[in-house]
Order: sequence, then structure tokens, then C-alpha cells
Amino acid sequence: MTLLEIITPANPALRHKANPVERVKEPQLQQLIDQMIATMRHAHGVGLAAPQVAQPLRLVVIETPAEVDDDGEEIPDSRKLYTVINPQITWASRKMVLGIEGCLSIPGYLGEVARHQAIKVEALDRMGRKLSLSLKGWDARIFQHEIDHLDGILYTDRLTAPENFWSEEELRKQEEEEEKREQESKGERE
Ligand SMILES: [Zn+2]
Repeated sequence: MTLLEIITPANPALRHKANPVERVKEPQLQQLIDQMIATMRHAHGVGLAAPQVAQPLRLVVIETPAEVDDDGEEIPDSRKLYTVINPQITWASRKMVLGIEGCLSIPGYLGEVARHQAIKVEALDRMGRKLSLSLKGWDARIFQHEIDHLDGILYTDRLTAPENFWSEEELRKQEEEEEKREQESKGERE
């Protein structure tokens, strides 16, 4: 399976508004979908939008993370793979939630973004069938992030504050320091 090149903000194509897909069952489109799924999995991503592989189409693939049981073990087959064509967010909760996001087009960085806690999405699947989804939590976040790509919007446009953007290394260091502080304050109490 051919892997596709994931473009970064250095390529202006990432900022273009994508066009609706007109013929879903066309072999070329089906091949693109398969290549996008392979590329997303190879990059260990949870979602990939066609503009990220320089294709100006309203198409995203999403594979939600595995659910874990009480012992922290992954539940088999709990990952869900979606091919989402011409998606529309038809409803969004007023409630917003904060979360840390990354993007395959901005490797090595993470940022804090507020997203709707729940959304409803209407789209077509890869067979051209109507898809109606009610999503919440992380699944809703992934869909909002990917659908933004179809309008040339990146999560870095939506940061809760410009400084809430970190390299993975910075974030790891911060977490380590917090842990250390917690342990120290525990030590003082004991
Ligand atoms: Zn992204």
C-alpha cells in the first residue's frame, strides 16, 4: 500500500477550503481512502483529512483510540474506523470542554483547544450511504479537529491562549516537574 506524504503548514494547500466529493464510488476515490487509512495508521494518528495529503476534497478518515478496561487493557475491536465524506455538523452542544490536541501536519507539538463536548454529524460513508453520528468526548473532539481541516483551519488557530502551545518535550518536562512537586508536597505532609 502506497503511503501518502502528509503536508505541513509550509504548504499553502493545507489552508485551502476543500471541495465536496461528487462521485463516492469512483475507483480513484476508493484508492485514496485506502491510502489515507494506511497513512493514518502508519503515522499512529487518530484522524487524517484529505487536505493533509494535498487532496482538496471533503473527506476524512478517523480511527478512534481503543477503549480500555478497568485493568488498563485494551478492549479488542473497540477501535472504530470511519470514512466520512462531505460531513456537516448539524448540532453542537453549548458545553465546551478543554483538551490537548496534536496534528499529523504539525509533528512534535501539542496545544490546548476548547471543543464542543458533543456534536451531531451527517455525512456519507465510503459506499455513499448516509451516515448520522452522535458523538461526545474525545470522539467529538477528533471529528471537530478533522472537519476543521476541510476549511483550512488548524487547531493552532483555536488555542485557548497563544502560550498554550508546547513541544512534546516541553510538555513532558512540565509534567515531570508537576509530579516532582506533588511528591515533595506529599513528603512534607508525611
Ligand atoms: Zn490535524
